[in-house]
Amino acid sequence: CGIVGYIGHEDAKEILVKGLEKLEYRGYDSAGIALMNNEGLQIFKEKGRIAALRACINQDVMADIGIGHTRWATHGQPSRTNAHPHQSSSGRFTIVHNGIIENYEEIKKTYLPDVEHVSDTDTEVIAHLMDRFVKDGLDTEPAFLETLKIVKGSYALALLDQENTEAIYIAKNKSPLLIGIGEGFHVVSSDAIAMLQVTDQFIELMDKEIAVLKQDSLSIKNLQGENITRSPYRTELDA
Ligand code: GLU
Repeated sequence: CGIVGYIGHEDAKEILVKGLEKLEYRGYDSAGIALMNNEGLQIFKEKGRIAALRACINQDVMADIGIGHTRWATHGQPSRTNAHPHQSSSGRFTIVHNGIIENYEEIKKTYLPDVEHVSDTDTEVIAHLMDRFVKDGLDTEPAFLETLKIVKGSYALALLDQENTEAIYIAKNKSPLLIGIGEGFHVVSSDAIAMLQVTDQFIELMDKEIAVLKQDSLSIKNLQGENITRSPYRTELDA
């Protein structure tokens, strides 16, 4: 399982799918991507091989922001419906997640009693919590921090917000996640190997940190919202 993301000036879909192919070795049962541009967001996902995902992507969709996922099912059988990305009920938030949300049932009961869940995954509650906190009046980043304060378990996750089409929000706890850096773009990946196609410079995200990636800027914070500065390293891995 693994996640990838891209925000820059190039067409995201090929970079994402190539990245997912490089993560195949981690094992998976389904895969999906979300592509976002100023006109909206589109999701393509399939059970099975990356080749099946590749075949279902509409090549006419041009987007310079996207996130992708290979799933190794822990909650809910391998199926197209349970494949990531998942969306909040409003459609505003779209997420991919690796790991396990241990308290997802409790979250459903406590925070989301009236929300209909589309999938059987533990993951989907994260998208719905985002909806709930922005309805309460929070901006995206504070809502993301509140959501992560509630969630228990392991996660590498990436989030898109359709009302803010210039950023990817990511977070990590006990699952690996790297930020890749380039001229006018940023990428996200569970493993550097997936993004050597575009960069050899990476920053590691630590447990209980979030980052907001834009084309030309990057901010890392802890869950208390305090800024964190960390320098990139150059990997010597070969593409
Ligand atoms: N727990 C999530 C699910 O079953 C994510 C699994 C993964 O790490 O791929 O959908």
